[in-house]
Amino acid sequence: MAVTHPHLPGATILGYPRIGRRRELKRAVESFWAGRTTLDDLEATARDLRRSTARHLTGLGLDTPGAVPGSFSFYDQVLDVVALLGAVPDRFADLTTDGGRLPLEAYFTVARGEGDRPPLEMTKWFDTNYHYLVPEIGPDTPVGFADDRVVREFTELAHPDDGGRPVVTRPVLVGPVTFLLLSKAADGAPDDFRPLDRLDDVVAAYAELLRALAAAGAPWVQLDEPALVTDLLGVPFDEVADAVRRAYTALATDLSPATEPALPAQRPAILVAAPYGDLRSAAGDGLALLAGTDVEAIAVDLVRGAVPTGPVPGLETKTLVAGVIDGHNVWRADLDTRLATLEALAAPGSGVGAGALSVGTSTSLLHVPHDTADEPRLDAGLRSWLAFADQKVAEVVTLATGLAEGRAAVADRLAESTAAARSRAAAPGVVVPQVRARTAALTAADAERAPYAERAAAQRARLDLPPLPTTTIGSFPQTAQIRGARAAWVRGELSDADYTAAMRAEIASTVALQEELGLDVLVHGEPERNDMVQYFAEQLDGFATTVNGWVQSYGSRCVRPPILWGDVSRPAPLTVSWTAYAASLTSKPVKGMLTGPVTILAWSFVRDDLPLGDTADQVALALRDEVDDLEAAGIAVVQVDEPALRELLPLRAADHADYLAWSVRSFRLATAGAGPATQVHTHLCYSEFGQVIGAIDGLDADVTSVEAARSRMEIVPELADAGYARGIGPGVYDIHSPRVPSVEEVTELVTLAAKAIDPALVWVNPDCGLKTRAHAETRQSLANLVTATRTVRATL
Ligand code: GLN
Ligand code: ZN
Repeated sequence: MAVTHPHLPGATILGYPRIGRRRELKRAVESFWAGRTTLDDLEATARDLRRSTARHLTGLGLDTPGAVPGSFSFYDQVLDVVALLGAVPDRFADLTTDGGRLPLEAYFTVARGEGDRPPLEMTKWFDTNYHYLVPEIGPDTPVGFADDRVVREFTELAHPDDGGRPVVTRPVLVGPVTFLLLSKAADGAPDDFRPLDRLDDVVAAYAELLRALAAAGAPWVQLDEPALVTDLLGVPFDEVADAVRRAYTALATDLSPATEPALPAQRPAILVAAPYGDLRSAAGDGLALLAGTDVEAIAVDLVRGAVPTGPVPGLETKTLVAGVIDGHNVWRADLDTRLATLEALAAPGSGVGAGALSVGTSTSLLHVPHDTADEPRLDAGLRSWLAFADQKVAEVVTLATGLAEGRAAVADRLAESTAAARSRAAAPGVVVPQVRARTAALTAADAERAPYAERAAAQRARLDLPPLPTTTIGSFPQTAQIRGARAAWVRGELSDADYTAAMRAEIASTVALQEELGLDVLVHGEPERNDMVQYFAEQLDGFATTVNGWVQSYGSRCVRPPILWGDVSRPAPLTVSWTAYAASLTSKPVKGMLTGPVTILAWSFVRDDLPLGDTADQVALALRDEVDDLEAAGIAVVQVDEPALRELLPLRAADHADYLAWSVRSFRLATAGAGPATQVHTHLCYSEFGQVIGAIDGLDADVTSVEAARSRMEIVPELADAGYARGIGPGVYDIHSPRVPSVEEVTELVTLAAKAIDPALVWVNPDCGLKTRAHAETRQSLANLVTATRTVRATL
């Protein structure tokens, strides 16, 4: 059977960075928040950005109707659906206007909170570093077609009023099923209520939106349903499948598409995208599921997911958008092999039976920077191996041309890509024989420390700490003055000597403060660190850092992940001088502070030419050398932070064991060189730890500090039940807000912890580092923490 819908363009991308090449949107949004510009100014900047982006992408070759994704957002694509539906929690209801519409100003209030109205919670978007806002949906949450912004943005580009080139975009939205699966039940909802119970209401609102888009002339719409590629949302596949069938029957089957000549168009053609992983898994076959609906096109992630082989019934009437270009990493693709994959899929004998094939990215390009041309300072060789968003668009276009017109039409580009791959493979530093020899020689014994009982006794004798020892997680408030000194030094305006003096002065005052407060294990405060990963990446061989390589982390917040391109080693000590200086100022133990291998990988762009576990071992050995040097400098306590341990957990349950094996092993490799009298700490935060409780024990750290204040110590009994019997420091001070916890509050939390596990194991500390906090509130909070601890100590 032939495809009857209008052909999806041969080349497309699932989304494009929206913050702007020079972070124009960030600036515009933040100056509006600061009251320096008006709402009209902000809307105008955003419109210009959407326009220039759409025309830019057209110029790069996405030049047929529907090829350019309409993936703009002022803050977050999940919050956009909240606004579309008017589905705001009760506490913001008074901010909505006619028909439940959320004006832009109020949209930001929902994102950021205001006074005693907390914002929506924020959490990680699948296994990326992007954070979305978690909708709160209850049985009575308003749900309707409340805001037509999507339609207005389509029309504004299709019929521009500036006399410039029109662009017919493909509006992109989070799909209804994924939206509800990522939502949490609103406060006060009955125990058995789940947001997915509101599917019919949500789908009805999407149906109205689709009608409006059809009326505006949109040929295509894209609905993202990455919920189909994960086992981590706690809903069995059968239920997800049932929801998908219901949703897309209502949206695709019950509304007549633009291509049904006898009927007025009730909707655009629908592309359902399933980025971030494999649609097919042991849990169920999402590709067969989607092929069985009446949507016109399906986008699959062929970077993470397997290339389909056998026939997929239903696919013969659809376009398969083959996501062969990695939207989630920065490497230039080997176009030759990607084209071969596409040719095999397109061949009539392939057996897959797609009605038509388009070339796409595996995910939105939201996760990569704009353009390698913006990185003149990057080594030219390395730059030639990279593809940022614009280079990826060009790759998609090249592959689509090659597929449509034959290899000869793109021979030059294929040759260039092959040459870049060869030069990368052979470049010095990519494979360093000494590094490979060292990892190859590792044995199981290298990941083993002395038995815990022996360590605990040696540490007790050496450290002589009181019961319920108090400590902090590492960083102290980073003042404008510290940041200014660091920036001036980077610009060459502050000499090395002056910079060192400025940092030492800060360290000295941080040590003095901790002594005055009466903390037991001190830290140097990390004033010299711009970021807990970048600081290490800048000093380790095998990493590069960028100048303009910003990617959105959440809202207006952007990060510049380092690029891990070669074998990793440590040319010189990384932290020893700062820690040793702090230790020289006090007789109390000072804790050395390192970022663990998994977190360094999670917050960098990692290489795609070596298994992640092998790269983790290389980073671990570099850190192991640092631990050695800290020990040699007399440091008795070393903390290796792994806040991202949970974050890299694969989306598919079948892949968990392998991930946990290498991630835990790399932490142990980093720390197992420490002698029994050296106390190894680790720190975890940002997540629910349910799936990694066993792994926390597996790390074999002497002390583990975890975020716990907001969950009221929930993790402590969980760890105790799992048999965890080493030091545990559940956070008693929520550092995400300026609020100072009272003595009573901290006393209560410490008491709770000491009841849930052997009190001899309990440490008292904040939830996380203090770098985002102000001085006054930090001092008061830590003073309360120490007072509360003394109160509980007296009862032991
Ligand atoms: N040691 C780091 C700090 O205190 C840990 C930060 C984190 O866990 N994200 O800032
Ligand atoms: Zn933390």
